[in-house]
Amino acid sequence: MRRTVYTADHEAFRETLRAFIESEVVPHYDEWYANGIVPKEFYLKLGELGVFGIEVPEEYGGAGIESFKYQAVISEELGRAGVSFGGSSVHIALCLPYLTGLATDEQKQRWLPGMASGETMFAIAMTEPGTGSDLAGMKTTAKLSADGTHYVLNGAKTFITGGVNADRVIVCARTAPPKDDDRRYGISLFVVDTTLPGYAVGRKLDKIGLRTSDTAELSFTDVQVPVEDLLGEENKGFSYLGQNLPQERLSIAVGAYSQAAAAVRFAQAYTEDRTIFGKTVASFQNSKFELAACKAKVDAMESCVDRGLELHDAHELTAADAASLKLFCTEAASDVIDRCLQLHGGYGYINEYPIARLYADNRVNRIYGGTSEVMKSIIAKDMGL
Ligand SMILES: Cc1cc2nc3c(=O)[nH]c(=O)nc-3n(C[C@H](O)[C@H](O)[C@H](O)COP(=O)(O)OP(=O)(O)OC[C@H]3O[C@@H](n4cnc5c(N)ncnc54)[C@H](O)[C@@H]3O)c2cc1C
Repeated sequence: MRRTVYTADHEAFRETLRAFIESEVVPHYDEWYANGIVPKEFYLKLGELGVFGIEVPEEYGGAGIESFKYQAVISEELGRAGVSFGGSSVHIALCLPYLTGLATDEQKQRWLPGMASGETMFAIAMTEPGTGSDLAGMKTTAKLSADGTHYVLNGAKTFITGGVNADRVIVCARTAPPKDDDRRYGISLFVVDTTLPGYAVGRKLDKIGLRTSDTAELSFTDVQVPVEDLLGEENKGFSYLGQNLPQERLSIAVGAYSQAAAAVRFAQAYTEDRTIFGKTVASFQNSKFELAACKAKVDAMESCVDRGLELHDAHELTAADAASLKLFCTEAASDVIDRCLQLHGGYGYINEYPIARLYADNRVNRIYGGTSEVMKSIIAKDMGL
């Protein structure tokens, strides 16, 4: 279907990015994949290219474009090539809105230029070993010191994307106990400098997919976080998470759509090339039907994400809209990628083939940013159930 969501500027950016991915990512990808991390210096190249600064306001070194569509183009091009920019996926798509929306001018001055250039990499730490879906149950604490100059941070986080390479991490911690009628009260956000004493990066987790992304455990032992690094108001952190999670979920939906679209392309190319019983696999009616059904699903996902992008740019994407988008696109993408892998036969199970990596990379879309079950809870609540 002809898309109307992108302008000539987006398409020009797409061309530049595609060439960059071909020359700067594809040749190194196997090495990054084997090492389980993207070298930090690579992020400076992304900064130089302007990828990190697109939505950073001009006065802080960015291009000041108020649209998420460029992030969607990045996601589509990474999916198309079957690669990723590692843990930096959260740097802009997740962390930037917290800073533009909540930081003071003084904080923006300190953090945003480095964010745009790639010199200061950001991650976000909500999940804890005992608490993922139920964020209000988090145990990490931040206690204001007697002299009021700093908070003392104690606790642990897990599954933190970009956790190894991060220079600053937006850490969610309890600054007050929950209220009897409001479990969400008492959480605050801190932009923690990862070089502070007591801040430690634990294991880099060994994942089945997204192998170039550094996903880590973090721990905090009496970390003295200056009061200047509190983000937004004390105890209101949960509402800030609520405001920013729709963009995270939209971005996961776009990623899932991009991976499904790539899977169909990979499967079509493979089946047109592979000959068995004296014919190409693509010539079997089953292959044509499978590919056609997958293409129809991808078209449906595309319409949904395009609508989501328009609504998000107009500040009209609700939490329930984002949950529906994430639920539908991630579940549909899993089905499409599985069918496309099947069309590859045994080669689809071998990591050398991009479809195998896509299969493993895609699986987490139904888990992180809120599981499919949590998305259903949000949608059901919005329906008044
Ligand atoms: C690769 C990866 C990267 C990640 N990156 C980050 C990151 O950068 N920052 C960060 O903070 N977190 C990150 N996460 C964490 C992620 O958001 C959580 O894993 C996710 O929210 C689920 O939490 P959990 O793992 O604790 O599962 P649990 O909450 O323990 O859930 C277990 C099961 O119970 C189900 N369940 C939970 N609640 C309900 C309910 N009310 N009704 C029915 N079923 C329910 C869940 O759907 C799931 O199936 C990442 C995770 C992964 C795997």
